[in-house]
Amino acid sequence: MSGTVLPGAAIGVLGSGQLGRMLTFAARRMGYRVHVYSPDSDSPAGRVANEEWSASYEDLDAACEFARSVDVVTLEFENIPAATVKALSALVPVRPGVGALQVTQNRRREKEFLRAAGFPVAPFRAISNRNALDAALDEIGTPAVLKTAGFGYDGKGQTRISTPDEADAAWESLGGEAVLEAWVDFEAELSVVAARGVDGAFAHYGAVRNVHSRHILDLTVAPAGVPSEVEAEAVEITHGVFEQLDIVGTACVEFFLTANGGLLVNEIAPRPHNSGHWTIDGAATSQFEQQLRAVCGLPLGSTRRPQAAAMANLLGDLWKDGEPNWTAALKILDVNLHLYDKKEPRPGRKMGHLTALALTPRGAAKLVADARSVL
Ligand code: AMP
Repeated sequence: MSGTVLPGAAIGVLGSGQLGRMLTFAARRMGYRVHVYSPDSDSPAGRVANEEWSASYEDLDAACEFARSVDVVTLEFENIPAATVKALSALVPVRPGVGALQVTQNRRREKEFLRAAGFPVAPFRAISNRNALDAALDEIGTPAVLKTAGFGYDGKGQTRISTPDEADAAWESLGGEAVLEAWVDFEAELSVVAARGVDGAFAHYGAVRNVHSRHILDLTVAPAGVPSEVEAEAVEITHGVFEQLDIVGTACVEFFLTANGGLLVNEIAPRPHNSGHWTIDGAATSQFEQQLRAVCGLPLGSTRRPQAAAMANLLGDLWKDGEPNWTAALKILDVNLHLYDKKEPRPGRKMGHLTALALTPRGAAKLVADARSVL
C-alpha cells in the first residue's frame, strides 16, 4: 500500500490528555514512536509518549516544527485552530482533516451540516444576539437548551431554559454565538464509535447505551440492547457522517433515542470517544488501535466483541475523602482499572474508568457499578 505509515514511524498527536495517552499505548505496543503536542507539560499522554512538545496551538512555528518530526498527524482534541491544521497539512497528512474539524468544532456549523445533509436533528436555531434568542424561543418553545457554538464538551457551555422568563439569565451566562435547541425527552442516549480508513473502509462497534450525570458521561453499556433496526439506522447515519465529512480515523456519533423509536443526532466527536473506552478490554481491536491503523493507512482491525461490556467513569469527586480503595474494586473479578495519571483530582474531572465484561449487558453494568461503589 503506497503511503502507508509503518511501525517504526512517528505518529504526531495533537492534544495530550487521556485519549492521547490511550492512543500512545496502542501505538507504542505496535512499535510506533509517538510525539504529542499541546500547551500542557507533564501531561497524561506526554508522560508515556516518546516526545512531549509543549507549545500553544496558535504557535505556527512550533506546530510546523512538530509536523516535520512525524510521519502523520492525528488528534485527540478537535479544537485546533484551522490555520494551524492547514499549515500542518502542507507538511504531513493530518487525519481527520481540516474540513471535518471545522464542522465539528463548532456546534452551529455541526448542526447546520447535519440538517443540510438530511441527518435527523432536534429542532434548533442559530442565535447571535439577545433578540434572536426571544424569536427562537417563540418558535421552538420551552423547555429548550442554549448551547455556545464553540468549544463545548461534557455539558460545558450549555444551559437549560425551562420557561421564557429564564432567557435573560441564560443569555447572560452564555452570550455570544450560540444555538437554541429543543429539549429532547429521550428514552435513551446511544452512540456509535467507528473508524474509516484512507481507502474508505469502515468498521464500527455497534450502538452502545450511555448514561450521563451532570451532563458528563457516567456509564456506557455495550451492546445498547435496542431493536436491530434502530441499531442499523444508527450505524447507517454514522457511516453517512463519516463519508460526508471524509473522516479518516476513529470518531463517534452521539444520538438521542426518542420514545417513538426515532433517532436524533446530538453530536459528532471526530476522535476516539469516552463511550468507546470499553473497546480496550472488550473488543478484538480497541478504538485507539483502530485510530492508529486508520491514520496510518493500514487495514482496520476486527471490532468483534466476545462478551457484553460496560465502562464507568471515575471522576475527581471520588477522591474527596482521599485515595479511592482500589484494592476493594479490584477484588471483583472481570473488572479492569484504567487511570490517566492526572495530578489533581478536581470535581467533574475525568481521572480514569473501570471496564467489566460479562455474559449480559446488565451483568457488565452491575460489575462496574459495584466496583465503583466500593472505591
Ligand atoms: P452535549 O454537550 O451537547 O453532548 O450535551 C451533554 C448532555 O446534555 C447530553 O448527552 C444530554 O444528556 C444532555 N442534553 C444535551 N442537549 C440536550 C437536549 N436538547 N435535550 C435533552 N438533553 C440534552
